[in-house]
Amino acid sequence: MTIADFGSQAIINKLIKEGFPNDSIVAEENSQELRRSENQEILDQVTHYINEFFPRVSSREVCSWIDLSTSSIKERFWTLDPIDGTKGFLRGDQYAIALALIEEGEVQIGFLSCPNLYVDKDQPEGRKGCLFYAIKGNGAFQMEMGGEERKHLSVSKIGDPERAIFTESVEPDHADHLTHKKVAKKLNILSPPILMDSQAKYGLVARGEATIYIRVPSPLEPHYREKIWDHAAGTLIAEEAGGEVTDILGRPLDFSSGIRLEKNRGVLVTNGILHERVLRALEN
Ligand code: AMP
Ligand code: MG
Repeated sequence: MTIADFGSQAIINKLIKEGFPNDSIVAEENSQELRRSENQEILDQVTHYINEFFPRVSSREVCSWIDLSTSSIKERFWTLDPIDGTKGFLRGDQYAIALALIEEGEVQIGFLSCPNLYVDKDQPEGRKGCLFYAIKGNGAFQMEMGGEERKHLSVSKIGDPERAIFTESVEPDHADHLTHKKVAKKLNILSPPILMDSQAKYGLVARGEATIYIRVPSPLEPHYREKIWDHAAGTLIAEEAGGEVTDILGRPLDFSSGIRLEKNRGVLVTNGILHERVLRALEN
């Protein structure tokens, strides 16, 4: 929990409720801890930053905005991770603000804001700040933050696994890096993985920079079920760019079973062309 998580959720919840008063929101945080007296200083800081955008809003109102979201799944709802990849954010690496609209278990709209991600994959030291978005049936796009042009995204056309580039979490507890390594070896993938926090990894696959994003459950938490806000936006963006997203057993992600992907195990994102081959390599 950081000041940024709460501030981001408060503002986005408020704006969604303003624009779509009848929609519900399922988001990662709530204000319970923030309201404790020992966290007064954190709450004051959250309020201070929010006042830059909404002058004179009180701490009580800020908490009520944070709590505009619930954990109950409706037929149509938004899901928000106010700061996805908090550990990356704290390290000064990658993080994302992830928002998706889900209707009847299908992701209809996905936004991923990645303020620290280089805009041009060929210039990793160049300008930073990407907004990825997709609307179902209408393609996936990248915009530079503050820019006006949008770029149509499409996944890489690599069909030879030797040339594939895979990406995985930075955090060793969030996925089984050893199994990823074995899969990469089986497929003769030559390049080392791109280690990256947050759903920015989906953006990398969507723009053809990475070919495969693997997330096998960590052996420390083999029964971990992924949270919907960690995957909804990214899934649509990768699919609309021509990619394929399933769990590691090849099943489509089911966003209708609660705040977690109860019916899935891990996640596999590819350019589509390599999907079956990676699934087979994951089998044994
Ligand atoms: P990443 O930056 O890709 O490592 O993913 C960050 C997300 O991992 C966080 O938003 C958490 O919700 C999620 N997470 C936390 N614990 C685990 C776990 N044991 N396995 C998989 N994901 C996790
Ligand atoms: Mg997250």
